[in-house]
Amino acid sequence: MNCTTVKPGVNCVFMTKKGCTFSGGTCHPAVEACNGCTRSTQFPTGWYCASCPDPSIKWKNGRCNLATHVKSEIKVEKTKLNPLKASKRGIH
Ligand code: SF4
Repeated sequence: MNCTTVKPGVNCVFMTKKGCTFSGGTCHPAVEACNGCTRSTQFPTGWYCASCPDPSIKWKNGRCNLATHVKSEIKVEKTKLNPLKASKRGIH
C-alpha cells in the first residue's frame, strides 16, 4: 500500500488501511552515514532510505549492508609459496 506519511506515494509493506504499522508510525530519517548512498532519497518531509524504514539500525553494528557508497574491503592475502614444493610442482 502507498505511504501517506513521510514518503507519500511510495509502496510500502508497513502501510495499511489503519496507517503505518512501523515502530513510531513512520519511517525514521536517514542518518549522517547515509550521505552519498543512492538509496538515500529526498522527500518533501526530509531524507529517507528507499530500502529501510530505520537507517540508524542498519549502521548500528557496522557498515550498512545495503549501502551503495561504501565498498567492503576485500583483503587479498598473498600466500607464500614454499620454494621446495614449488619446484616439485614445476612452478617457477
Ligand atoms: S541503504 Fe543503508 S546507507 Fe543507504 S540510505 Fe539506506 S540505510 Fe542509509
